[in-house]
Amino acid sequence: MELRVVGCHGGETPKHRTSAFVVDQRLALDAGSLTRGMDLRAQFRLEACLISHAHRDHIRDLATIADNRCQADCEPLLVGATGPTIRSLKKHFFNNYIWPDFSEIPSKAHPTVKFVELKNERPRELAGYRVRSVGVHHTIDSAGFIVEGSDATIAYSGDTGPTDRFWELLRQEPNLKALLMEVSFPNREQKLATVSGHHTPRTLFADLKKFGKPQDLPTLLYHIKPVFQAEVEQECAKLKHVNLAVMSLDDQFVL
Ligand SMILES: [Zn+2]
Ligand SMILES: [Zn+2]
Repeated sequence: MELRVVGCHGGETPKHRTSAFVVDQRLALDAGSLTRGMDLRAQFRLEACLISHAHRDHIRDLATIADNRCQADCEPLLVGATGPTIRSLKKHFFNNYIWPDFSEIPSKAHPTVKFVELKNERPRELAGYRVRSVGVHHTIDSAGFIVEGSDATIAYSGDTGPTDRFWELLRQEPNLKALLMEVSFPNREQKLATVSGHHTPRTLFADLKKFGKPQDLPTLLYHIKPVFQAEVEQECAKLKHVNLAVMSLDDQFVL
């Protein structure tokens, strides 16, 4: 399984892009920077995109990738998400005000975007993977994902603060090769992290212990706020008995 980091930050500057990752060139995890970070060929190659939740930093490039793919007459892009997230996308995003409803363009029979509703913890096939969403803890409905391929399984936390069920399920995964895990704020901003449903290195460490042996789980960190990048990295570097790496733009991993 190959993983490409298109965007891995919790904010945006010319050097920071919001969350978007691509597995084997065909399955995207979140759409925060799919068009800012990928050329047209890579955009057209995608078969499906999982959306963790409806916050703008995770959905924004659904707008522009739909536009590009529509003009190139691509196959429908399957957008997999929970019911609440799909309802938000339909009502507040592809609503013919903020952006055209690409689930009916160019036609209902052959749309640019096709929504696929995921029920938490119920596996479903998407772009050749067995995919499961898992409810996590954020300010709105938010899901993590477990993505099983033929040779590897990876997990993606989505935006979340401390949570339990996600770790319970990860403990049961025999072929888990990596976890893409959010951490957003430094420890001194714990209050802000708590009210916004995010992790600091301190709460990340406590949650990772729920996995049992976090030193055996390659944990790729993302969603650090650009303002706090250096501070969060320093705090994460001090954590012991874990297996952490902070992702950078355009990193590629073979898992
Ligand atoms: Zn969020
Ligand atoms: Zn976010």
